[in-house]
Amino acid sequence: RVIVGTKVDQNHVNYVTAYNMLTGIRFTVSRINAKMDRELTLADFEAKHKFSFDITGNELIPSAKYDFKFKDYAPWVFRRLRAKFRLDPADYLMSLTSKYILSELGSPGKSGSFFYFSRDYKYIIKTIHHAEHKLLRKILPEYYRHVEENPNTLISQFYGLHRVKMAYGRKIHFVVMNNLFPPHRDIHQTFDLKGSTIGRDLQESDLERNPRATMKDLNWVRRNRHLQCGPSKRDFFIEQLKRDVELLKKLKIMDYSLLVGIHDVERGNEEKLRDKTLQVFQPGGTREEDTNPNMLMRTPSKLENERKARELRMLIKRERPVPLDKAAAKMPEEILDERKYHVFYADDGGFRATHENGQPGEEIYYLGIIDCLTHYGMTKKIENFFKGLSNDRTQISPIPPEGYGDRFINFIKGITMSKEEVERRRDSHASG
Ligand code: ATP
Ligand code: CA
Ligand code: CA
Repeated sequence: RVIVGTKVDQNHVNYVTAYNMLTGIRFTVSRINAKMDRELTLADFEAKHKFSFDITGNELIPSAKYDFKFKDYAPWVFRRLRAKFRLDPADYLMSLTSKYILSELGSPGKSGSFFYFSRDYKYIIKTIHHAEHKLLRKILPEYYRHVEENPNTLISQFYGLHRVKMAYGRKIHFVVMNNLFPPHRDIHQTFDLKGSTIGRDLQESDLERNPRATMKDLNWVRRNRHLQCGPSKRDFFIEQLKRDVELLKKLKIMDYSLLVGIHDVERGNEEKLRDKTLQVFQPGGTREEDTNPNMLMRTPSKLENERKARELRMLIKRERPVPLDKAAAKMPEEILDERKYHVFYADDGGFRATHENGQPGEEIYYLGIIDCLTHYGMTKKIENFFKGLSNDRTQISPIPPEGYGDRFINFIKGITMSKEEVERRRDSHASG
């Protein structure tokens, strides 16, 4: 499939940052995984641990290529969350750090956050602002409870919260989360939907230049698109969405969106063979397999799996024996198995479109609520004031969380209505 990203190699400006992020994750995640499981306490939600890495190392912290400081937040809580999201602990580490390969999406939004994909495309590292970091720490108990009570939540799955600081550098906060889009399927169209109309339009000329650019609410409406869920799944979907939005309202969060990626089954993976853009991030030179553009579609050889297992075993051997071979031998088609428990991620990592009569549709939807760490605080209030002077105040994107959530739900309800239902309503309007 098409992998978007730029190369993060030794010459990349963010090479050292990315390397240190992965080194810190590798160390802190294996550290917490090595401990005996226990019940969470309130203190676990506030916990933070600081580690100093340097080129010599010591008996507690292994040596690293660069000097940097790393902070790990609420490690027990995130360990539990990863388990709730059914991640395999060894597999998580392997995906992120087995070869230190990342590709950088750069900073697609206006916020200036950077996005990185793990090598296997399963995880996203997003750098976040200090205010978002503080918010996540504050809401963590409620987020945790929500995940516990809502196994099918559509809100971003957070797997880790960390901070890295280079010598003389600034502090960079980041989260690790799920990539909603699958490693093995082309996404033919992407929409970022908020239910707001002002400024929610991707210029069609931009789309001509980049057919995969993320479209917005007005592009959706103009295309007369529908999310075809079929009658029973639709109710279930809206019900889950309402529960999720209830939480976000309560936490005074807004500005989130429903990210929708659409895979057209007929078109299939037409571009995977032409893909030349897989970007590699590897400290010690490049192996042939890493530059193979079809790497993600390839089944790892037995030798390779054994080598991976060995690498990882070495990494955590001092702590605890873990049955690694199973995880290390994960085949590409197994990659999404852990998502099977999730109603909306169970059809090939997504949610198969369904006609009114229950027949499967021609598309697979990959969707979730993203960018949900913006508090309706001062900056948004100011933005609302100024934007509201020149626009219809109910249509602009930064409105208070209650109104934001209601408008969001209404929009999604509207677009999940089947074409038949829309017509029925139109007819009854016309006759009534
Ligand atoms: P802004 O605040 O300006 O909206 P941001 O930097 O906070 O931007 P997001 O809105 O979180 O960024 O995401 C920007 C884009 O990155 C999304 O529109 C989507 O294309 C992609 N993206 C974000 N999160 C995910 C995810 N979990 N899975 C797949 N793609 C994602
Ligand atoms: Ca956003
Ligand atoms: Ca944002």
